[in-house]
Amino acid sequence: MHKESGKLMELQRHDLEAKRLRDEAEALPKLVAQLEAKAKATVGQRAVVLDLLRKEEALRRRQESDVTDHQGKVAKVRKQLDLAISTQQVQAFEREIEFARAAIAKLEDEELESMQRSEELEAQQKIADAAVAAGQAKFESERTRAEATIAANKTALAALEEKRKAQRAMIEEEALSIYDRIARAKGTGIAEVRMQKCTACQMMQRPQRWNDLRDRDNQELMTCESCGRLLWYNAETDSPGRKPVQTESIAAQIVRGR
Ligand SMILES: [Zn+2]
Repeated sequence: MHKESGKLMELQRHDLEAKRLRDEAEALPKLVAQLEAKAKATVGQRAVVLDLLRKEEALRRRQESDVTDHQGKVAKVRKQLDLAISTQQVQAFEREIEFARAAIAKLEDEELESMQRSEELEAQQKIADAAVAAGQAKFESERTRAEATIAANKTALAALEEKRKAQRAMIEEEALSIYDRIARAKGTGIAEVRMQKCTACQMMQRPQRWNDLRDRDNQELMTCESCGRLLWYNAETDSPGRKPVQTESIAAQIVRGR
């Protein structure tokens, strides 16, 4: 195995951690914006309820004013009734009074219905108030948390960048450029092989490559035949004494003429 493999593996750990920190810092403002939009939506929902409540109140003011008008009319017609001189006039005034009283009764019924609607709306408003408060609190706490995380990630990234630079300085240029090229294309440039398997793509390595990979004298930079990543073998993490598993398919064996 190439002597730079272990160093590349360490570099990759720094690279992946840097990526995680950057990704997190990038995702957090989006999450906060989503929470802000959600909080605003609950305010909008509450505004609809408040608007309906105002409409019911305005409706009742109109109904009460109409009731007052009709009552005024009843009082006026009653005076006229006192002065009536014919049965016809009496009947006409009584009809007018009856008509106004029926209108008052109808308006009072409608006012009661409006009050019931208002009660339901007030219950909805309480729920909406709670949703607005919860949404705003969640948005504010997540914004504060996001700001703290972003600041912490920035500090961590600066420290990590120093480590990355130091690590890169320890690695041969050729190995580094191969690693960079693969990492750019695949996200990761090197993968550990455990129990003969590439841990990035899960493909079994052929027995000869597996042997070469574990050979301390072999200074070739080896790549996975399946995913193209550089391979790294760590004798310490691979199960000791475990024999390579022969999993090559019959078809592959035929192709290789064995
Ligand atoms: Zn692979």
